[in-house]
Amino acid sequence: MEKRRILTGDRPTGKLHLGHYVGSLANRVQLQDEYECFFIIADLHTLTTRPEKHHIIEMRHHIRDLVLDYLAVGIDPEKSVIFVQSAIPGTYELNLIFEMLVSVPRLERVPSIKEMARDARLETLPFGLLGYPVLQAADILLPRAHLVPVGKDNQAHVEVARELARRFNRLYGPVFPVPEILLGEVPTLVGIDGVKMSKSRDNAIYLSDDAATVERKVRKMYTDPQRVRADIPGRVEGNPVFIYHDAFNPDKDEVEDLKERYRQGKVGDVEVKERLARALNAFLDPIRERRARYEAQPGLIEEILRSGIRRMCQEADETMHLVREAMGLEAQPGPTAHSVPPPGLVYC
Ligand code: ATP
Ligand code: MG
Repeated sequence: MEKRRILTGDRPTGKLHLGHYVGSLANRVQLQDEYECFFIIADLHTLTTRPEKHHIIEMRHHIRDLVLDYLAVGIDPEKSVIFVQSAIPGTYELNLIFEMLVSVPRLERVPSIKEMARDARLETLPFGLLGYPVLQAADILLPRAHLVPVGKDNQAHVEVARELARRFNRLYGPVFPVPEILLGEVPTLVGIDGVKMSKSRDNAIYLSDDAATVERKVRKMYTDPQRVRADIPGRVEGNPVFIYHDAFNPDKDEVEDLKERYRQGKVGDVEVKERLARALNAFLDPIRERRARYEAQPGLIEEILRSGIRRMCQEADETMHLVREAMGLEAQPGPTAHSVPPPGLVYC
């Protein structure tokens, strides 16, 4: 039996952080044997709020960083397909077809869209930004994925993809699976300031941070704001240091002991943080080692992307063939128009 498929990915806007790990990367690594995995580096999505050329040029090194982050956490390019969104012509084609199958009020109800416009300080909503979930549906459904491991902020988008798959299948016949969402163990990880960890907020601990940086960031981490001295009882629930201990410290006895003493006012923030920094660095050490190994191999990233793009183009051609056939748009020449990306297509 053919393996079921996963599609998920990231925008190349910076390095990946612990939030990305617990929200999505951990599931990707864990499921890459069970599923056929497609990991998209979603550069077109960044054009929705940052279309300027210098941002596009900047993305080149973010793309490199992303691939290195993937390899460092244990994504295996021999098993999984890693590709750049803009290199796949089928993405643009399927996006256009899906645009016909969703209403403007439906998209206006997706909460993250207005937030993104606000964060990017845009005065009006670009047409493409309103269509963000449509493009994401094209990403997910182009490889006909069954499962989408993402963080909570993407839940409403995957819902649109599910509706589009159903709508298409109802109108034209069963081409697409209706994809399921898979939320991470921590669907939204807070940053060191207690608000959602985010590349744009300067509150992230990155997978590529060195040990001293992790220690420094952990020292700055928010804890219980009511607790002005170490000898008064503190709150564990919702406290960022303990959220992190729960997520990253495998020594559960140590965590329980710290929580108990914290509640009783018998341990200071300093000790809780020192132990957290130690646990985080132990978690990050193997990631750092793998990164160093891959970084030392010249041309590796380019080769991974070249072969990933080639593979995804083939899948996209197959899907677009099925799409046109189902829709009765088959007057066009056959499905192989784009099979191979243009020569010399290099992203890094
Ligand atoms: P950020 O929000 O940090 O700026 P981003 O929005 O640029 O990052 P995306 O490429 O949108 O990152 O997200 C990549 C994946 O990581 C998505 O599945 C998203 O849900 C997940 N993710 C991002 N931040 C977090 C977080 N703090 N906690 C859990 N999952 C997260
Ligand atoms: Mg996001």
